[in-house]
Amino acid sequence: MLVKFYGTRGSIPVCSPGFQEFGGNTTCIQIRVKETNNIAVLDAGTGIRELGKDFLKSGHKQDEIFIAFTHFHWDHIQGFPFFAPALVKNQKINILALGWGYKLNSLEDIFRTQMRKEYFPVQLEKMGADFNFMLLKETKKVFEPRVKKPTPVLVKTNKHNHPGGAYGYRIERKGKVIVFCTDIEHGISIDENVVKFAENADLLIHDAQYTDEELKKKSGWGHSSFNQAIEVAERANVKLLALTHHDPDHDDEFLKKMEVKCQKRFSNCFVAREKTEIEI
Ligand SMILES: [Zn+2]
Ligand SMILES: [Zn+2]
Repeated sequence: MLVKFYGTRGSIPVCSPGFQEFGGNTTCIQIRVKETNNIAVLDAGTGIRELGKDFLKSGHKQDEIFIAFTHFHWDHIQGFPFFAPALVKNQKINILALGWGYKLNSLEDIFRTQMRKEYFPVQLEKMGADFNFMLLKETKKVFEPRVKKPTPVLVKTNKHNHPGGAYGYRIERKGKVIVFCTDIEHGISIDENVVKFAENADLLIHDAQYTDEELKKKSGWGHSSFNQAIEVAERANVKLLALTHHDPDHDDEFLKKMEVKCQKRFSNCFVAREKTEIEI
């Protein structure tokens, strides 16, 4: 699997100079299967705009595209109306919220409301794609892509402590494991369920919005520190750690310094940069 970061910023996009190396777009990750070129998307922050453009430019045709959502805060849905493949007539797009089934009445309402004419000129039903809203109660599901020799993909979610709720995703395919844990506030000590959930991951992508000092002042805001992300990676025996959901006030210079600091404690880690792609 290839993981590409299209949005690494938390809370709100930033476009100022000094924020270009790590990028200003909000959370969006592409997972691409090398053999088929098929993609799946995690969250639709503003980064999904570039992702959609790249997808169409590549000319790759895919029967159905999955977009899985950790939760629906603005920084995770804001790019959705600008996802160009959603304007392609009859393109099937599955909107997945695994584990959310008990908490929401309707998944469609979230996107329909976001695109009401008071907020946006094009309404959901006018986009063109054929949307399938998958609001599921279970926290574990096997997906079998519609290809000649399908390789099953096991997707699991884990509930996070976050205002309004959020879920982490664990994706397992052909013995490789990617875990995405963003928008998580551990509390006084590390959430043991998160450690268990991330166990032996080849790649853990973890919220690192704050320094330890900032975290003390931002209790209840729903995020983690760099050190907490490292602690999860260490305890879960993670092979590679990507730190993400950068605070909008953390510029490139600051993040570069933090990266050096974090690598001293956990050598196999990096601060996620927009457009970086890694193979797992
Ligand atoms: Zn967020
Ligand atoms: Zn959030």
